[in-house]
Amino acid sequence: MKIYLNGKLVDKNDAKISVFDHGYLYGDGVFEGIRAYDGLVFKLKEHVDRLFESAHSIMLHCPLPKKELEKAVIKTLKKNKLKDAYIRVVLSRGAGDLGLDPRKCKGQETLVIIADKINLYPRELYQKGMEIITVPTVRNIPEALNPQIKSLNYLNNILAKIEAVNCGYQEALMLDHLGYVAECTGDNIFVVKGGELYTPPQCMGTLRGITRDTVLEIAKKMKIPTHEHVLTRHELFISDECFLTGTAAEIVPVVRVDGRTIGSGHPGTHTKKIMRRFQQATKKDGVKYTV
Ligand SMILES: *Cc1c(COP(=O)(O)O)cnc(C)c1O
Repeated sequence: MKIYLNGKLVDKNDAKISVFDHGYLYGDGVFEGIRAYDGLVFKLKEHVDRLFESAHSIMLHCPLPKKELEKAVIKTLKKNKLKDAYIRVVLSRGAGDLGLDPRKCKGQETLVIIADKINLYPRELYQKGMEIITVPTVRNIPEALNPQIKSLNYLNNILAKIEAVNCGYQEALMLDHLGYVAECTGDNIFVVKGGELYTPPQCMGTLRGITRDTVLEIAKKMKIPTHEHVLTRHELFISDECFLTGTAAEIVPVVRVDGRTIGSGHPGTHTKKIMRRFQQATKKDGVKYTV
């Protein structure tokens, strides 16, 4: 496996960064998870745009312009001969001293691109649906660390994941500081009620997921009314269908929330239709490359 590291494609065993990198010391950096499907990189421009937005917000400079970063992603895929892949782009502040001051990092950011296979959940979970549980850790409040920044500082989400796993669940439902539904640890959440689709607005401690946006687009094309609206746990409990979205997980049906059965207790019809449409989109939209 070859890893892109600051402009070079190096062997996995040589892909090393400094222990003084502020990405390592402080989670001071940003990232993206991207997927390629059969030689097409899905929503590459959107992911690169979001990486630049996250970086801009934390005053982090990307050593490559957008177009060059897109090329670097494709180069990494080609080098590894991967037609189907999960790509991780990591941009960190680089090596500084032991203090917090980012000026000590001297503008030598670390840019890493890893292309590999990923199978987040077993296939049968997508057929049977998942059970999730609300956890005590609330999603970061935007005034402290805005969830729109896809940062390397992922402890908020990891704490939530630990709480879910400790209770025997694979995924955690996180609420915002007001008690409204925010998102899961690395996925956005949707419900279907009365044939209409609802997801929390991006201002409510929710990352604006690219899969989320894709699902909203798909639903509009299917003439399903969509709402970006605050949701309570009660509204989840009484929904007809529920599902999660994210680049790595794709679309995961949810059939139980905090012990409450959702709808029939099986993945819903709208959910299944949207899953199929999403799969079709990944087969035709995207930046093409050959391995
Ligand atoms: C990346 C991420 C998502 C999903 O976003 P996609 O762009 O669909 O991959 C949702 N929530 C969090 C916290 C994330 O980091």
